[in-house]
Amino acid sequence: MESFWLCEDCLQAVAYDDYSAVSLHSSEAEVEQRITRMHTALRALLPLSADFDPESGIGIETFSTRTCECCHDTLHGTRHRFTRL
Ligand SMILES: [Zn+2]
Repeated sequence: MESFWLCEDCLQAVAYDDYSAVSLHSSEAEVEQRITRMHTALRALLPLSADFDPESGIGIETFSTRTCECCHDTLHGTRHRFTRL
């Protein structure tokens, strides 16, 4: 099964359809561009399912610089594992 990792912004977008985290650290024009990119990338990744366990930490990398499969963010942050269905 194909696994990939998403940053926290994209996790929010996937899990809750919530893009508000994106707006925290960018200008308005950048936010719109980023959300558009995320929408496009997510559509290509769907359908997907969460493959991490907050209790055991399996499938979660904190302070990772692994490239986010969706927005291609490489900033330090938490990455969560997903599996393509
Ligand atoms: Zn991302």
